[in-house]
Amino acid sequence: MKAAVVPGPKQGLVVTEVPDPKPGKGEVVIRVNRAALCYRDLLQLQGYYPRMKYPVILGHEVVGTIEEVGEGVTGFEPGERVISLLYAPDGTCDYCLSGDEAYCHSRQGYSEELDGFFAEKARVKVTSLVKVPKEVSDEAAVLVPCVTGMIYRGIRRSGGIRPGELVLVTGASGGVGIHAIQVAKALGAKVIGVTTSESKAPIVKKYADYVIVGRKFSEEAKKIGDVTLVIDTVGTPTIEESLKSLWMGGRLLQIGNVDPSQAYQLRLGYVILKDIKIVAHASATKRDALETLKLSTKIEPVIAATVSLDRINEGYELLKSGNKVGKVLVKP
Ligand SMILES: [Zn+2]
Ligand SMILES: [Zn+2]
Repeated sequence: MKAAVVPGPKQGLVVTEVPDPKPGKGEVVIRVNRAALCYRDLLQLQGYYPRMKYPVILGHEVVGTIEEVGEGVTGFEPGERVISLLYAPDGTCDYCLSGDEAYCHSRQGYSEELDGFFAEKARVKVTSLVKVPKEVSDEAAVLVPCVTGMIYRGIRRSGGIRPGELVLVTGASGGVGIHAIQVAKALGAKVIGVTTSESKAPIVKKYADYVIVGRKFSEEAKKIGDVTLVIDTVGTPTIEESLKSLWMGGRLLQIGNVDPSQAYQLRLGYVILKDIKIVAHASATKRDALETLKLSTKIEPVIAATVSLDRINEGYELLKSGNKVGKVLVKP
C-alpha cells in the first residue's frame, strides 16, 4: 500500500510503497477514510519528538473503516467506522481503568512508537478505538481526537464552561480556533474570535458572536464584557494578551501550540491576584471523544483543503503558509 513515511530524523516525508498491515493480537486494520495534517507533524519532521521510531508512517489524526480484526478483539467488527485516540493506552492500569488513559505510563503514540495514519490502511490497537455514530460525517469525526475532543476536554471537563459565559478564542481562523469557537457555542457560550487577518474576519464572524482583528486584543475584549475563559490556540505570541483579557477567576486554556520556544515571562503575582487558572491539554480521552461525537452534528467541519497522499507535501506548504481557514485533510 501507499504511505507517507519519515525515513529518519529530519529526513522529510517520502510517499512510498510499504507492505499492507496485518492485525496483531488486540489490534484491527482500518481503511483510512480521512487523516488530518497538524502542526505537531511539522515539529516531528524537525526531530522534536524523541520517541519516534524510524522509519515511521506520519499522521496521528484518523477516521477509518475496520477491514480486519485480530485475535482477541471483541466489540469491534469489520465495516464499523472508528476514530483512534492519538495514542494507544494499555487499558489495564489504574489511569486507564478510571478513564484517564491520557496519563497511562505505557501509552504509545501513533506516528511515534507506532506507525501513524498517512497511508491507505493502518494498524490500530483496540484500546484506542472509538466508534463513530452514523450521523457524524468523516470530516467531523477526524477532527475529534486532536481538535474538537481536545477542546471539549479543556473547556468542559477542565474548564467547567457555563452557558452564557463569554469566551475568547485566539487564532480564530486556524484549524483549532475555528472549531474551538463552535465547540464553545455548542456548549452555550458567547464567543469572541480573535484573528490577525482582516481578510479572514468575515469567516470568523460566521461562527463567532464578536470578532476582534489584531495582536493587541485585550482592551477591546474587556469592552465587550467579562471574559472568563480564553482558549488560546496560538500560545507564545498571544499568552500575555490572553491573560490580560481575563476577568477575575478566569481560566486560560492553552492548546494547539506545542512550540518548543519559551513563552513570555509570567508575572506570577498577576495570575495569583486575579485568581486565574491555567490549563493545558495535548490530547483527548475516550470519554472526551464519545461526548464530543454526540455534539459533532452541531459543529460544521471547516476544511481548508483535502489532498491525496501523493500531494501531502503540498498540504504542508498550505499549512505553513497560514493562507487558509480550517484544517487540511488527507484522503488516501
Ligand atoms: Zn494533531
Ligand atoms: Zn494504562
